[in-house]
Amino acid sequence: MTTKSQLDVQQDVSLQNFNTMAVPARARYLIKVTTVSEAQQALEFARDNRLPVLVLGEGSNTIFESDYKGLVILNRLLGKKCTRDAPDHVLVSAGAGENWHQFVDYTLQNGWFGLQNLGLIPGLVGAAPMQNIGAYGVEIRDTLVLVDYLDIASGEQRSLDNSGCCFAYRDSIFKMSLASQVFITSVTFKLNKTPNVNLSYPALAAMFNEVSKPTPREVFDVVCQVRRSKLPMPNDIPNAGSFFKNPVIERQQHQTLKEQYPDLVSFAVADGFKLAAGWLIEYAGWKDQEFAGVRVHEQQALVIINPQKSSGQEVLEFAKKIQFDIYAKFGVTLEIEPRVYN
Ligand code: FAD
Ligand code: NAP
Repeated sequence: MTTKSQLDVQQDVSLQNFNTMAVPARARYLIKVTTVSEAQQALEFARDNRLPVLVLGEGSNTIFESDYKGLVILNRLLGKKCTRDAPDHVLVSAGAGENWHQFVDYTLQNGWFGLQNLGLIPGLVGAAPMQNIGAYGVEIRDTLVLVDYLDIASGEQRSLDNSGCCFAYRDSIFKMSLASQVFITSVTFKLNKTPNVNLSYPALAAMFNEVSKPTPREVFDVVCQVRRSKLPMPNDIPNAGSFFKNPVIERQQHQTLKEQYPDLVSFAVADGFKLAAGWLIEYAGWKDQEFAGVRVHEQQALVIINPQKSSGQEVLEFAKKIQFDIYAKFGVTLEIEPRVYN
């Protein structure tokens, strides 16, 4: 089916290859876009047909509970450029459809530093601001300066600077007041020309000899190596990374839990204590447990894997059992990290 603007509109499309959990959902309509103008035309098609819109990257943080009854727009907007070259830093913009890991590699190749701890995070650049992606003590809010987007309702081009994005731990305005209202088209970062590294994450610092200061490229390589050894890669075993956020609890509750469970893994944060959700799940005995073909990963209790490509409903039913049990045992609510659609 083609629209008046000759966009290729596919109907009743399987999304199984477009979500890394590999759940067998379908989309009523799907359009792949490679330019901002095509993205605007796709939004116009949705408006004309009164369809809800879901902008999809690689689907590595998305769970389809059922078929999607609207329009899925596959964002494939490419392009990277240095928009400002100052003596000590650069501003670099990337199209939302660029692969995140390859973009990080590209910045390092050019001698632009700051993203090296975020190597090998799956997904595309356009999804990175959604949950302020983070790993090994770094989040994109540390270097992001601008997000360009299309307003889904009107198709108008708009921008938000860093403070406008309201970044928080695995959160941003794009998951809160602007949820499902934007199509991010490009993201701009301010990167350093001085090869500083951030080894504040103890597990990362421990990988390096205390005397020698690693280069950003070395940090990137080690991060990638550790991730390959610890995490199931979605191409091998379907998964969506950490299934739950690490919960933050109040000081008093933390003290009570710590007395009850002296091994509890927790970290002091501004508003209380962050618990390692993986520890809670493992301690409660869920590691390697299975339901309807869905399983808690045998090495990483925070990762739910879907080797049999079971349905999104089954994945979420299993997640609910875990949430229920963790609440019963520890009085702690686990929040699902990926975005759930039905
Ligand atoms: P998708 O799943 O396609 O989309 C996620 C959400 O963003 C959806 O709501 C979608 O509608 C929205 N979205 C996507 N693109 C756009 C756009 N252009 N405009 C508007 N909305 C958009 N995350 C971390 O933070 N840190 C990690 O270390 C990490 N490790 C992971 C490891 C594994 C093995 C896996 C599978 C996942 C991991 N993740 C991690 C989660 C995931 O990789 C990130 O959230 C990533 O940014 C998702 O990118 P994506 O393109 O796959 O997003
Ligand atoms: P890990 O090092 O085994 O640590 C377990 C948890 O403890 C992590 O979730 C981390 O929180 C927290 N943590 C460890 N040291 C900390 C410190 N000094 N201060 C505050 N928090 C600390 O974790 P891992 O599973 O191997 O993952 C390594 C990194 O990759 C982590 O940053 C993790 O977030 C990231 N990762 C994310 C996903 C995802 O899908 N979101 C998937 C895989 C890996 P944080 O998560 O807040 O860092």
